[in-house]
Amino acid sequence: MSFAELGLSPKVLEAVTSAGYTTPTAIQAEAIPHALLHKDVLGLAQTGSGKTAAFVLPMLSMLEKGRARARMPRTLILEPTRELAAQVEESFATLGKNHKLTVALLIGGVAFDPQAAKIDRGADVVIATPGRLLDHFERGRLLMTGIEMLVIDEADRMLDMGFIPDIERICKLLPFTRQTLFFSATMPPEIQRLTAQFLHNPVKIETAARSSTVETITQQLVQTPHDPKAKRDTLRRLLQTQTNIKNGIVFANRKTTVALLEKSLQKHGFNAGALHGDMDQSARTKMLAAFRANEVTLLIASDVAARGLDIPDVSHVFNFDVPIHSEDYVHRIGRTGRAGREGHAFMLVTREESKQLNAITSLIKKDIPYFTLEGAPEVSSADGDAPRRERGGHGRSRGGGEQRREREPRADRAPRPSRAEPVEQAALAETVQQDEQTSAAPRPERKGRSEAAERRERNSRRPPRNEQGRDDAVQDSSGFHEGNMPAFLTKR
Ligand code: AMP
Repeated sequence: MSFAELGLSPKVLEAVTSAGYTTPTAIQAEAIPHALLHKDVLGLAQTGSGKTAAFVLPMLSMLEKGRARARMPRTLILEPTRELAAQVEESFATLGKNHKLTVALLIGGVAFDPQAAKIDRGADVVIATPGRLLDHFERGRLLMTGIEMLVIDEADRMLDMGFIPDIERICKLLPFTRQTLFFSATMPPEIQRLTAQFLHNPVKIETAARSSTVETITQQLVQTPHDPKAKRDTLRRLLQTQTNIKNGIVFANRKTTVALLEKSLQKHGFNAGALHGDMDQSARTKMLAAFRANEVTLLIASDVAARGLDIPDVSHVFNFDVPIHSEDYVHRIGRTGRAGREGHAFMLVTREESKQLNAITSLIKKDIPYFTLEGAPEVSSADGDAPRRERGGHGRSRGGGEQRREREPRADRAPRPSRAEPVEQAALAETVQQDEQTSAAPRPERKGRSEAAERRERNSRRPPRNEQGRDDAVQDSSGFHEGNMPAFLTKR
């Protein structure tokens, strides 16, 4: 199957060739012909399947007829995160290079007025996160009655992030006659309900689910105690043993842990940066650019923050926590071993996580061997039988322990103070206190930090509570020294 057979316009085909695409991916081959016939499409597809071009290309062909009017965009693409929205905009720049289209990116964290000015002039395409789109609508800057095509991308992530009520509201504001292209990697019941309500006789397309892991990735487990401090120690030791790290992503289940790890690794002299939902847009973009340029070697990220980001050529993936949802494991380690290259994936595992680990090995249909880490903190039987209760509740409780699935704040609206905040602040204060005792490295000065990072920095200077003080008095007994750390991992 070639792109020429799909029914795309000559202008679109020329841009596809310029982009270097020779053969359509499965989702493109199946979805594009139906989309060009104005049918609704329900695509079960993952990031990396080429699904962006599967909706961008037919949209470009469709937009060749007609013109946009002031404040009445013709097409709407909804994305769960600002980064994904910005990436789709980039796809329009590449694939739409032969079309003189006005593309408006409506995302939170950046100024409102330039976005509104763009819609005023008449936008052919609006790429938006749901909250910011509704903000524009509520301020009367946007009419949705001219939308001819709607794309809902990464619907299951929208669900994770609490966007479904917004999506329902937006769908009700659009003309009934519009065409809808709907993409989701999984189909939980809430998503099925949404598709039943808002899609009309959709053509269902299912590309092979990513339940398998690439053969070029070596996967290994590292046993670790449940105690967060000991876990961080295990991670540092592991990083130190891996002499072939070019760059790596460290995944954690919660944004609290991401923030903690960033501070902790930096204090120990690692060249680490974080990507999480509390960072403002410019801080996220800067961090990602620094990682792409290899100025930051270790990127610490949550699943939500890293979703869909096109980061080529990562040599290592480190799972600081076992992911709660086993498919996330496949997504996480899929960041390495791309295009036939060698990749390395490690996962820290506590006894408490054995159930989640079993779910992963059943999904990928293979066992993952253990890596023996010399001098690692010992896993005592107490770790398995009586896991320490952490501040904020037991790990598995819904109340906010380490294991709870991350729910980032509404990414496109101003974050509201959460009830978890005091726990996060206390935990950060504790880590920094520990770091000051276990590391001789000076506090690295970092430019362009987000407000949230600065707030944390301020909080970190507060004296820890008594209970934490006791923990902090325990010196790092690991014998780990920054002195014998590989140069590529250290802060430049
Ligand atoms: P996506 O799943 O849309 O995020 O796309 C993943 C990556 O595949 C992006 O870097 C695209 O530029 C690339 N891509 C999409 N379609 C094709 C194609 N037909 N041939 C080669 N690369 C592609």
